[in-house]
Amino acid sequence: MSIYCSECGSVVSKEDIFCNACGSKLDKLKTAKFTTTPSYSKSTSTYQHQPRKRLYRSVNDRWIAGVCGGLGTYFNIDPILIRIGFIIISILGYGMGLIIYIVLALLVEEES
Ligand SMILES: [Zn+2]
Repeated sequence: MSIYCSECGSVVSKEDIFCNACGSKLDKLKTAKFTTTPSYSKSTSTYQHQPRKRLYRSVNDRWIAGVCGGLGTYFNIDPILIRIGFIIISILGYGMGLIIYIVLALLVEEES
């Protein structure tokens, strides 16, 4: 039966006082819980498999700075529609779309 470190999850032996991987003190009562397969509730398991969605500027689908491509990916919309939206906002909103675009281009990180 293996015991897992409560801090980093690496396998440690029963005799270990400190974890070999992360060096944290092993609490025998705590580690005992980790010997059984973790049973997540339905809500936590879906959360575990879905990393938090982040808005990035697209590298592959770019027009000027990749803002529209990134927004398209984020909202699951065709980037063309977002570009049209930006153009419409720019025309109707006296350049507002352009300002929003520049702000997003400066603030949003480029995807890696
Ligand atoms: Zn550890």
